[in-house]
Amino acid sequence: MQKAMRLCKHPGCTNLTTNGYCDQHKDEARERDRIADRRRGTARERGYNYRWHKYSKAFLSRPENKFCKLHLDDRCNILAECVDHIDPPDSPEDKRFWDASNHQAACIHCNSVKGHRKIVGTYEYGNEPNECSKG
Ligand SMILES: [Zn+2]
Ligand SMILES: [Zn+2]
Repeated sequence: MQKAMRLCKHPGCTNLTTNGYCDQHKDEARERDRIADRRRGTARERGYNYRWHKYSKAFLSRPENKFCKLHLDDRCNILAECVDHIDPPDSPEDKRFWDASNHQAACIHCNSVKGHRKIVGTYEYGNEPNECSKG
């Protein structure tokens, strides 16, 4: 039994094929799909990065998040520069990712030293009393 032969879907190609693309163009077509997939992934990532960037800025602007809570070693930058996940999520889809109780202020150095470990930072600089306690 023979399948109907059609023109290759590659623009301008006159080869006949039964599979959408001829042998000459099928790899190229697959590669194009792969790139399109990757681009979609990147766009989604950008969306999350933007949201996270905005969230981090607001988080670090609060007085209680001014300093690095981790202070894992002497190379700590003291000032908080990023939002660290106490219990690191596996992906942005993980519910621990956006869980505010899982966030703590950290410097980039301590954040990278911490890696994928669960560490609750308790370091307090200056010990300024914090009158506004949350209920
Ligand atoms: Zn072709
Ligand atoms: Zn630090």
